[in-house]
Amino acid sequence: MKVATAVGARPQFIKLAPVSRALRQRHQEVIIHTGQHYDDRMSATFFAEMAIPTPDYHLGIGSGPHGAQTGQMLAAIEEVLLKERPDVVVVFGDTNSTLAAALAAAKLHIPVAHVEAGLRSFNREMPEEINRVLTDHVSAQLYCPTETAVRHLQREGVIRGVEQVGDVMFDVLLEAQPRIQQRAQALLPEFGLTPRGYILATIHRPANTDDPEAMRRIGQAFSDFGLPVLFPVHPRTRKLLERYGIAWSERIRFVEPLGHLDLLALASQAHQVATDSGGVQKEAFLLATPCTTLREETEWPETLEGDWNTLTGSRDAAICKALGRPRPAQLRHNPFGKGDAASRIAQSLHA
Ligand code: UDP
Repeated sequence: MKVATAVGARPQFIKLAPVSRALRQRHQEVIIHTGQHYDDRMSATFFAEMAIPTPDYHLGIGSGPHGAQTGQMLAAIEEVLLKERPDVVVVFGDTNSTLAAALAAAKLHIPVAHVEAGLRSFNREMPEEINRVLTDHVSAQLYCPTETAVRHLQREGVIRGVEQVGDVMFDVLLEAQPRIQQRAQALLPEFGLTPRGYILATIHRPANTDDPEAMRRIGQAFSDFGLPVLFPVHPRTRKLLERYGIAWSERIRFVEPLGHLDLLALASQAHQVATDSGGVQKEAFLLATPCTTLREETEWPETLEGDWNTLTGSRDAAICKALGRPRPAQLRHNPFGKGDAASRIAQSLHA
């Protein structure tokens, strides 16, 4: 088959890596990059690090208001699909690139396969939640990472084409595993950090970044807690903090976004991860690093089991308390599959 894969943002490049490799063993792949993330550190780095083939199409759409961005992607992807006529279009996760590609394909009667189907935060104020729900409802093949995801779809009446294959990000993590410890040994001294002696933070969700008070409270909590915080800053977060004129304490070290192995290495050795990222919550869980999630809800409820992850929103006292909670003693049960999600998707995919 000719399979078009559509990506645009950092987490999608990471998910594409194992899927693309598995697809290419049996199908022809055309990669479409919308350009949603264009900064080298948010895009090119991942193609190089994870040996993802160069996109066949780079649409160069870039940032913009949701409607304009999604609309431009929709038009541009439609053109590519009309030219390439793929048998199936594979989309990943929950960004505007996901929705635009799914919609463009569905309108042309090309079957859509959704990798990471069925996730729900039940918060429709998150742009990602709208993207997930709509994408699932136009998809013909829905590849769920967990049993919870399958149940969410059932409740919405989506049953046909649903398959629980496990999480492709667990595939990626398993593959990186043998290199994580060695990388951590090199990186910690470079950043002047000690094992379990720092917090690794990532923040990019609009509920936090678009609210200067929330960002102030998070900075306050980090500074009150007392451990050094390493903060690889998402470009939009940096832009907004500069605009608000917020200066966080010197305990919080701003660095450029990290490559994926470096992120995993630093997460694996942290006292805790503090994040509003979906993927980072899950990686912390899989690496057995406790996580404090700076949100009110999560689309990965499995990570909350046994106190490995705690939701605090942006309340400073709650963040401080969660960062200080004892490390859970209970062993984690891994609900994210066997690490063979990508090959299962490649096998199951059909026109
Ligand atoms: N990530 C990374 N470098 C960073 C921050 C995150 O490689 O500096 C990775 C992280 O390990 C995870 C993915 O990016 O695999 C998560 O992406 P992001 O937080 O942008 O999106 P979300 O998962 O919230 O959709």
